[in-house]
Amino acid sequence: DVSHELRTPLTVISGYLEMLGDADLNPGIRRAVKQMGEQGDRMKSLVNDLLHLSKLESNNAGTGSQWFEFQPLCAISIDQLKAYIPTSLTGEKLLGAEIHCDCISDIEVFGFADEMSSVLSNLITNAIKYGRKEGQAAQVNISIQNTHGGVEISVSDKGEGIASSHLAHLTERFYRVDESRESTVGGSGLGLAIVRHALEHHDAPLKIESTLGLGSRFSFIIPAERIRHKQN
Ligand code: ADP
Repeated sequence: DVSHELRTPLTVISGYLEMLGDADLNPGIRRAVKQMGEQGDRMKSLVNDLLHLSKLESNNAGTGSQWFEFQPLCAISIDQLKAYIPTSLTGEKLLGAEIHCDCISDIEVFGFADEMSSVLSNLITNAIKYGRKEGQAAQVNISIQNTHGGVEISVSDKGEGIASSHLAHLTERFYRVDESRESTVGGSGLGLAIVRHALEHHDAPLKIESTLGLGSRFSFIIPAERIRHKQN
């Protein structure tokens, strides 16, 4: 409820800040208005993520599933994120990412296409943001493969990795590994909580593997009962 109520005042404040951004202001005030606008955008994305998460949590039974084609969802997420350039903590634009996809294309999944889209875009965004070594573009590999018991989907990167003590906590709301270590501006801290809930609706637990200095791999197996192969 609070998130919902915050939406309107935030939209009004952001709208006026945008208007002020076009005005003829002295440089100090212009900088302040710009920063207020950026923080307003962060608050909006936080509120949207909170609303998204509470919607996922309230549909615990995951009712309303339908068959949908998986590969096009993945292609759309990749397409949207190809041009995504993260910002460093000091405000500079970083190098983008090289995204490689090794995917079987004939499967349909019984579940929720919009939830699966948000799983893919959260995991790919994280791989681009955190899966990089200093001064390099992130190298992201997405794979969709038949495996024992279903279809395995994974998003891997070759970044700095995550220490094993953090792995069990990553899907908790607002958990971040180490603010000072992150090289990029983070999101709401809710991304992986959203991923976990959305995957629960597909009976597909999230598995996180990581080796410090080598990178991380986020994967899940959609069980065979939820998969069918497209008929040509
Ligand atoms: P955020 O909004 O901070 O990105 P997430 O819930 O998506 O929130 O991720 C939680 C934390 O997990 C991140 O802040 C980051 O510390 C860590 N993390 C997520 N993905 C990766 C990755 N691919 N490599 C290294 N760390 C990661």
